[in-house]
Amino acid sequence: MTHLPTPSAHGPRCIEVALAVPLFRTFTYAVPEEIAVPIAPGSRVLVPFRHRQEIGICLGAVAPPDGVVLKSVQAVVDDVPSLPASLLHTGRWIADWYAAPLGLTLRSMLPTALTVATASAPSVKTQRVVHLVTDLPSLLQREQLFARAKQQRVVYDLLEAHGGTAPFESLRVQANCSAGVLTAMAKRGLVEIRDEVQQRDPFAGRTGTAPPPHPSAQQQEAVRTILAGEAGQVFLLHGVTGSGKTLVYIEVLRAVLEQRGQTAIVLVPEIALTSQTVDRFRGAFGDDVAVLHSGLSDGERLDAWRSLRRGERRIAVGARSALFAPLERVGVVIVDEEHESSYKQSETPRYHAREAAIVRARAEGAVVVLGSATPSLETWERADRGQAIRLTLPDRAAGAQLPPVTVVDMRVEMKQAIAARNPNAPYDETLGVFSTSLLVALEQRLVRGEQSLLLLNRRGYSAFMQCNACGDVPVCPHCSISLTYHRIPEMLVCHYCQFHQPVPAQCPQCASDTMRRRGLGTQQVERMLAERFPEARIARMDVDTTSGKWAHTQILDRVARGEVDILLGTQMIAKGLDFPNVTLVGVVDADTGLNLPDFRAAERTFQLVSQVAGRAGRGPKGGDVIIQTRMPGSHAIQHAITHNVTGFVHEELGARRMPAYPPFVSIANVMISGLDQAATATMALSAAEWVQRLIHRQGLRDVVLVGPAPCPIDRIKDRWRWHFLLKSSQPKLMTRVARYLAERYPVPAVHELRLTVDRDPVSLL
Ligand code: ADP
Ligand code: ZN
Ligand code: ZN
Repeated sequence: MTHLPTPSAHGPRCIEVALAVPLFRTFTYAVPEEIAVPIAPGSRVLVPFRHRQEIGICLGAVAPPDGVVLKSVQAVVDDVPSLPASLLHTGRWIADWYAAPLGLTLRSMLPTALTVATASAPSVKTQRVVHLVTDLPSLLQREQLFARAKQQRVVYDLLEAHGGTAPFESLRVQANCSAGVLTAMAKRGLVEIRDEVQQRDPFAGRTGTAPPPHPSAQQQEAVRTILAGEAGQVFLLHGVTGSGKTLVYIEVLRAVLEQRGQTAIVLVPEIALTSQTVDRFRGAFGDDVAVLHSGLSDGERLDAWRSLRRGERRIAVGARSALFAPLERVGVVIVDEEHESSYKQSETPRYHAREAAIVRARAEGAVVVLGSATPSLETWERADRGQAIRLTLPDRAAGAQLPPVTVVDMRVEMKQAIAARNPNAPYDETLGVFSTSLLVALEQRLVRGEQSLLLLNRRGYSAFMQCNACGDVPVCPHCSISLTYHRIPEMLVCHYCQFHQPVPAQCPQCASDTMRRRGLGTQQVERMLAERFPEARIARMDVDTTSGKWAHTQILDRVARGEVDILLGTQMIAKGLDFPNVTLVGVVDADTGLNLPDFRAAERTFQLVSQVAGRAGRGPKGGDVIIQTRMPGSHAIQHAITHNVTGFVHEELGARRMPAYPPFVSIANVMISGLDQAATATMALSAAEWVQRLIHRQGLRDVVLVGPAPCPIDRIKDRWRWHFLLKSSQPKLMTRVARYLAERYPVPAVHELRLTVDRDPVSLL
């Protein structure tokens, strides 16, 4: 915690102020006579800075520096500090641990509306929105409907993929058509076009879901242990998929609020994808819950923040940044799906919400519950070391069983399919995409009126295009990554920078007309499914269909209402969904993430496959899982099949010892990027040498530097990228080196060169 030096009795009163600038320093201001009362740490103050007025955060009183003329604080903005002591403490920890400037860190903890000197009132905006009128027609009906209207078909498919609603302009742009096409569709009665006040808080209008009335003995035992935890105690709630972790959270919250009069924070990976879970909290606690989500306007965010600050609402539910909810007397911090990489912020300050949650909870005297069916290795190890108490829910709630999992070796499947093929038949695109068992299983579900989930973790139509003659693959001119083929609308798209270009008719290299599409994407699988099962109602959920703010929720609501037979999607569909009528989960290609050059590749694959498998068989009808792979022997897949978390963790932990990776060492990924290739490489080499000299000079033998080398994706958005890793088994040393590097390394002011330190990275690409 902060120690305030006693202000000198003689000189002017002074305070230390953090300003939101990318500098590793704070500023001292004089407090004028008019401000009679002491300014509490954590309060916002208005100060002059570089000919402007800025909002800064008072860190506390300091002794006046000698012989310096100070500028004065102009006003104190807060009656009560915007950042209570526990948050100020958390902010200091984040800035220190992740080598980020304190001022920027503190600013990122507050709603935007509180951090700008002149806030303008948020205005009401209207927007033209297109709604689908008819229910989903099957592929057959659609063929007839749009036989003579190709563009309308494109719009229709897009709209459907967006969950039935999309803003007029964005739909028109995506479909690459004129406004006339949309109005013609409205005339045909296919869609409705309305001017609408932009929807503000969709959660305000949703009814919550009542929780199950009777916790099981297992659940009660977990609740009791958590409530008996000492201040600052961390719990790992390891409950298999469908074990009812949400009810454990709810019962803990109830006791914390009602018996102890305390408050609570609940973190979920992404609000839009976890609306079901959020509905359950609202069902149990109604308006006591403030849902903090990215769809809130600045004004609404401020309202939510204020209601928490005043104690009018006592539970903050939200993604990452809900950790900074201005609650006092926090009794519990819950991190649901704690293994999710979305808890890591990808820009400064690059904090991990799980780790920061533990720091805040300690400062509050609260307990922490980290829940997951597939815990991160970090958390698992923390429990092994005795720094977290492991609680296990080994069984599914209400007598449901974990679904049996079948693995299909697609190499064998492919051989058989080729052998059985009629040599005169035209080339069949679907060959090697769906195994016979998956097709049979899907068919059965359609006949029985049950639902299926299909996972393919790659969006677009095909992974890339390649010339059959010369082997050329079109790549993004701004990134070192191949362009993905998209069919609606038809173009090649870069998934890193959104660059797009028309599909070349001929090979740009050798001019032969042998460009072929390679590798599967969700768009293509969607189309194959539609052709194979023309009567099926298919919905797709990936980045392309969820650009609208509430598109995710709309798609999931349709699944819940039984309006979708097959939901196809990327990893988005693996997060916490609980639909009892889903009796089949298929993984089209389990290998998409396995071969990435990242030490977490196996862990991510294991988590993804286990989590999506866990969506099956949650109701009385049971369920099945079919996993298609070309690497059935990989330990990630083997253990996912048997729902064997312990087996996976132990094998994977073994692999993380030599060479050492987290959780056995702390690592920081130091990234050097710039517009010039040679200058970036030169800077990477000299920065690495600079750090080596620092390590030697200070005798920090426990800090090891690996690299430098070009990043696996060595150019993104025109910036060349190099990196090196720092590893250390002593976190304190890592903090010292990382901070020293971030603060002191002299980055040349050319070619937009940049150095960033990413401590505890979740991706090394
Ligand atoms: P998890 O998050 O652990 O995967 P959920 O919290 O989604 O599991 O719960 C799975 C399902 O079991 C939900 O539909 C939930 O309503 C139900 N459930 C949980 N606990 C109970 C219980 N004690 N009695 C009856 N149903 C329960
Ligand atoms: Zn070619
Ligand atoms: Zn690009």
